[in-house]
Parts: sequence; C-alpha cells; structure tokens
Amino acid sequence: MSYVLEDLVNALHAKEPALRLERQAVMAAYTTLHLGGPADVLAHPATPEQLQLLLREAARHQVPVTLMGHGSNTVVRDGGIRGLVIRVCREMREITVEGSVIRAQAGAMLTALAMAAAEHELGGLTFASGIPGTVGGGVYMNAGAYGGEMCQVVTRVEGFDMAGEPFSYGRADMNFGHRYSRLMDEDKVVTYVTCQCPHAKREELLKEMVELNRRRAEKQPLQQPSAGSTFKRPRDGYASALIDQCGLKGLSVGGARVSEKHAGFLVNQGGTAADFLALMAKVQTIVYEKTGVMLEPEVRIVGEDCLVHAL
Ligand SMILES: Cc1cc2nc3c(=O)[nH]c(=O)nc-3n(C[C@H](O)[C@H](O)[C@H](O)COP(=O)(O)OP(=O)(O)OC[C@H]3O[C@@H](n4cnc5c(N)ncnc54)[C@H](O)[C@@H]3O)c2cc1C
Repeated sequence: MSYVLEDLVNALHAKEPALRLERQAVMAAYTTLHLGGPADVLAHPATPEQLQLLLREAARHQVPVTLMGHGSNTVVRDGGIRGLVIRVCREMREITVEGSVIRAQAGAMLTALAMAAAEHELGGLTFASGIPGTVGGGVYMNAGAYGGEMCQVVTRVEGFDMAGEPFSYGRADMNFGHRYSRLMDEDKVVTYVTCQCPHAKREELLKEMVELNRRRAEKQPLQQPSAGSTFKRPRDGYASALIDQCGLKGLSVGGARVSEKHAGFLVNQGGTAADFLALMAKVQTIVYEKTGVMLEPEVRIVGEDCLVHAL
C-alpha cells in the first residue's frame, strides 16, 4: 500500500478507532455479480459522522474515493480499485416512520424500506420489494420496477459532497428521469432519504409484494449472480427483447453468459469481470449490427483491468 494510503488509514484510526476498515478487500464478496479484484482500502461507515470523516480525510490526503452501496448494479474489474472504497450499506440502515413520512439511512435495503412502509400501512413502495440494492443506490439511479420508481415517493435527499460538506435536495432539485438523477453527474454521497407515502392497507400491500416477487422469480434468473438488467432500456422497446430477437440467449464468453431465462440479464457462471465485459461488448456489437440500436450499459463499471487478463 502506498505511503499516502498508509497515512490516511493511520489518520482514520487515530480519529475514529471504531471505524471498520479492510485492506485488500476482495470486491467479488461485495457485488451481486461476485466479480472484482481487491480494493486497496474498503471502509464500512456506521454513522453519517464516520462517513463525513472518511470524505474529509480522503480529500485531505488526495486519495481517490469510489462509492458503493450493495453492489447490485456494479461491475468491478479484475484488477480491483485503487484508493478508498466507501461502502454505505448494512451498517447505516436505520428506518424511521412518522405518520406518512419515512426517513431511511442510505444503507437500508430497498426491500426493508418496502416492508417498513407496508407495516405502517403506507403504499407507493411495493415496487421496491424485490430490488436487491440500497436506498442510496436506489435514489442515485431512480430505481424502479412494475410501474413504480423512487422519484414517485422521494421528497428529500440528504448527504455530503466529496469534501464532506452537507447538501440537501428536494424532489424537484433531483432532476429525476428514467433510471437517472442528478447525482449521476455529481460527486455526492447520500446519507438520508425521506419519502412521503399514501395511506394503504397492510394486507393489500403485502399481497402485492408477494405477487410482484412471484412475477420476478418467474421471469428472472435470481439463482445466478447478476447485476439485474445489464443494459438500459432503449428509446423504443426493451433491451431484453432486442437481445432475444438477435438469438443471443445462451451466448457466452468464458464464464459469462446471456441468461436463457431473461435475455436482459447477463450472468456470471464462475468467470471473470473481463469475461463479463467482453460479453457485454459482444452483445452490443451484434445487436447494433442486426438492429441498428446501440445498447447502453445500465450497470456501473469501476476499477482497473487485471494485467494478466490485459496481456
Ligand atoms: C437480481 C437483480 C434484480 C434487479 N432488479 C432491478 C429492478 O427491478 N429495477 C432497478 O431499478 N434495478 C434493479 N436492479 C439493479 C440494482 O439493484 C439497483 O440499481 C439498485 O438501486 C442499486 O443499488 P446498490 O446499493 O446495489 O448500488 P451499487 O451497485 O452499490 O451502486 C450503484 C451506483 O449507486 C451509487 N451509490 C450507491 N450508494 C450511494 C449513496 N449512498 N450515495 C450516492 N450514490 C450511491 C454508486 O456510487 C454507484 O454509482 C437489480 C439487480 C439485481 C442483481
């Protein structure tokens, strides 16, 4: 590890001994694709204050920061990630409900948010019950399914910029669009998300969640490591329909494969990130040649190639 990183780790330990830091953390353990080499240093903040300290110290030491939630929309390359990775996940998962307002820490899972809403007879979040990501990752990309989207219920998003300075955006400030928010163009870390939800009957909400999850299990290869839909929905139609139409179900590169169950899902069957990225490129090329549509990745790709693979 470089001297700068060593200095950063020492400064963090001195100021906040309780902060959990892992060196050379294999990122395959922290992504739903189970792909990715080691991060130099992986931090698991348990409070907004620890998160702010991490950002301030990383800025002071000029160490690059990569931000992650549950890693369910992320491909980490085989060479891993240099610098500091901050994982806002299970350690920051508080959810509080007051009347029709839910306030969740960014590391809470979307599934837990949907359940908490249902328990308090609040609707508008059943769509989120099967999305295996965090609330922070969910607002970052305006996650959605079955006609619901985060932007329909989110009223405020709070957090820090990369210097650790607080920000607070109302819904209108977020510029939400299809799988888009302004956070995708800015370096910001979400700590809290507030949602305003309509009253609904608990039993009906639970029934709806069971039904949506049944439909998901029927259509999606949930038993295999994936990052969900690999490509964004093109302007007209669906990425999965185009991939299927081009006869690409079952196409593979090394251990990466286009799912036979759902062509929009590329799954990892024991391969490398290099396999996965090569398969993505192959699918894009063939779909473009056959249909004229260039599919854009929905997954976020981070880290460095492994030299062994690059040679
Ligand atoms: C089986 C499966 C099914 C899926 N189904 C759906 C679906 O129906 N609909 C859908 O929209 N998505 C779906 N996804 C994709 C994914 O679950 C969502 O995009 C989810 O919102 C990502 O959250 P995450 O915490 O895993 O984010 P990560 O993958 O960890 O990160 C994604 C992006 O969010 C940013 N981010 C994460 N946390 C924060 C934070 N606290 N502050 C600021 N930025 C942050 C990261 O920097 C990164 O750029 C699916 C994935 C899988 C594996």
